[in-house]
Amino acid sequence: MKASIITIVGAGLVEPLLAISLRQRGFPVVLYERRGDMRRVPVSDGRSINLAVSAHGIYALQQAGVWSELRDIVIPMGGRLMRLLTGELIFQPYGEDETEVINSVSRAALNIALLDAAEAAGVVIHFQRRCLGCARTDDGIVVRLHDEESGRETSIAAEVVIGADGSSSAVREEMSRWPGFRLSQERLNYGYKELTIPAGQGGSHAMETRAVHIWPRGPYMLIALPNVDGTYGCILFLPFEGERGFAALASKSRVVDFFPPNFPDAFALMPNLAANYFANGGGSALATGYEAGHDPGPNE
Ligand SMILES: Cc1cc2nc3c(=O)[nH]c(=O)nc-3n(C[C@H](O)[C@H](O)[C@H](O)COP(=O)(O)OP(=O)(O)OC[C@H]3O[C@@H](n4cnc5c(N)ncnc54)[C@H](O)[C@@H]3O)c2cc1C
Repeated sequence: MKASIITIVGAGLVEPLLAISLRQRGFPVVLYERRGDMRRVPVSDGRSINLAVSAHGIYALQQAGVWSELRDIVIPMGGRLMRLLTGELIFQPYGEDETEVINSVSRAALNIALLDAAEAAGVVIHFQRRCLGCARTDDGIVVRLHDEESGRETSIAAEVVIGADGSSSAVREEMSRWPGFRLSQERLNYGYKELTIPAGQGGSHAMETRAVHIWPRGPYMLIALPNVDGTYGCILFLPFEGERGFAALASKSRVVDFFPPNFPDAFALMPNLAANYFANGGGSALATGYEAGHDPGPNE
């Protein structure tokens, strides 16, 4: 029997990995991604410069055959280094011994390795194709796509569609209108902003590398993960509103005033903070629940 072509919407972290796994099982797979090919054009929305990969992630990457090329560019982190306002540092190990670590890896390098491996496995990837939605017909599913370059709209017929197009999924949005599909989603009142601690002289690291640095401040926090080039990818998590929220940090001077009393040691390592703050991306948090018939929905 001929295997169905699987259509996947999105080519972020999960989709190429899933596509490789499906190829390993003999399915033809086609991906449609809204953005340009990040191997050729710089990505504008960073969604955190780096991320932490745990044993589960490593297992999946091993199965996809991409872990061996990434293992030289990851930094193992044995625990959290809590950086209190008093200046006290508290190390909280992740595991029982120093072999139990999570690993800091460049999100772009990880995504590129997965895209390369997916194409090498025979997956077809179409970039700059934004899914507008999909409709069920008697013959299958019709996926509507917008060509982000030419502006043209097309429709393709698909047998199986997997919507993995991120937290604001167009596929899920469309499915929410299908009979029997129940969706609940809630925007949290928190957002994040990506920042960078630059490398020191000769590409040296300004802080400990074997830890996730966390500046816990009750309702808000800053975190930093090391990169192999000596920089740290930081994420500032704040409520949107309020005196200590993003709305209050509307100008460069307010950003520069906010950091010293809240994150004095981080501020000392961020000479370009204000420019960095307004140049970099960020996002909001979304909590989503699903119910379709009697099937449990996917989790985010
Ligand atoms: C600030 C932050 C820090 C994080 N840190 C970690 C971490 O340290 N470790 C960890 O394991 N996870 C981390 N995560 C979670 C991780 O980023 C997600 O679990 C992961 O990105 C999910 O992968 P995905 O492929 O489902 O979605 P995404 O990575 O969001 O990819 C979705 C893709 O779909 C594309 N797309 C969107 N809409 C459409 C459309 N309409 N048509 C076509 N394509 C579309 C997007 O361009 C994107 O390429 C973090 C998340 C955030 C926000």
